[in-house]
Amino acid sequence: MEKRTENMGLIDRLRKETALSREELGILLSTMTKEDAEYLYRNADEVRREHYGTDVYIRGLIEFTNYCRNDCLYCGIRRSNTRAQRYRLTTEEILDCCDKGYLLGFRTFVLQGGEDLFFTDEKICAIVSEIKKRHPDCAVTLSIGERQRESYEAFFKAGADRYLLRHETINPAHYRLLHPKELTIENRRQCLNDLREIGFQVGCGMMVGSPYQTLDYILDDLYFMKDFRPHMIGIGPFIPHADTPFHDRERGTLEDTLRLLAIIRLMNPRVLLPATTALGTIYPLGREMGIQAGANVVMPNLSPTGVRDKYMLYDGKICTGDEAAECRHCMELRMEKIGYHVVSARGDSKV
Ligand code: SAM
Repeated sequence: MEKRTENMGLIDRLRKETALSREELGILLSTMTKEDAEYLYRNADEVRREHYGTDVYIRGLIEFTNYCRNDCLYCGIRRSNTRAQRYRLTTEEILDCCDKGYLLGFRTFVLQGGEDLFFTDEKICAIVSEIKKRHPDCAVTLSIGERQRESYEAFFKAGADRYLLRHETINPAHYRLLHPKELTIENRRQCLNDLREIGFQVGCGMMVGSPYQTLDYILDDLYFMKDFRPHMIGIGPFIPHADTPFHDRERGTLEDTLRLLAIIRLMNPRVLLPATTALGTIYPLGREMGIQAGANVVMPNLSPTGVRDKYMLYDGKICTGDEAAECRHCMELRMEKIGYHVVSARGDSKV
């Protein structure tokens, strides 16, 4: 018989009420034992099953440019990394990825890239509307950083359904330590608010174990993510990249990431929550464990193999050599092995 601990009582309440006081959440996070964590994962998995059963939504990730005007201190494609080999996919290449992905059962395409103004609003709109024309039953997600509200409006009008823009950290002092001074958390928040007002399904999120992160900052993030009521939340471990100022920092841990995934599921029962590639990079079964701790989305890569190893946000990124079809089947097998099922559906938000 499992011995009941005080933290298990907190987990029960978190599940029932989807919130705890800041002090309680702090205690839970800082004193959680292995047994508590197992109990937390079980509860998060049950809540996920209540809303999504054993379905796992797949998103086809197309990393279409690694040019970036920003200089985020943690990121391998930051503009001052002169060792990065830059590339851009052509419109035809992007559409080709979608066509192949469609045949493999993908019904969501995520266009992600650095902040690359070569891709003007017009170009992005043309790509989005062509994807929607060819595959009207699919959702298009954009993840291309901060732009003007008018640009977001144009993307939405062109047919984009969702937008991922991690807030990275909601604490202004922490934000400044991770970003160059021209980037501010105030502008990120503005972008996120604009996106949701325009009508996008919006995703925010953060890295776990980023440099200078404290328990206090994590609590700020957990409450921000709940208050903002995002449709999607993307979290993954920070992993250093050799050619960035944070090259010698510790990576985020598997354990911390799983615990936060589970807490996020309990605080946001219906949110779409990916088990990220970064989680699979720090531990071979990381994505499976993420699903078992409450996540319900995976994002296999559809980018052409020729560019995969150039979209290096961090060192050691997995799946850089596999064809789209291999990634798709590998994911299906991985999920079946743990009793979940990849489904071919748009997987819209139930928030
Ligand atoms: N440019 C877009 C943006 O800023 O939203 C999308 C691309 S950006 C590279 C995607 C995400 O990668 C970021 O939100 C960040 O959280 C994550 N990322 C960047 N560097 C990372 C690192 N070293 N370890 C883990 N995640 C990282």
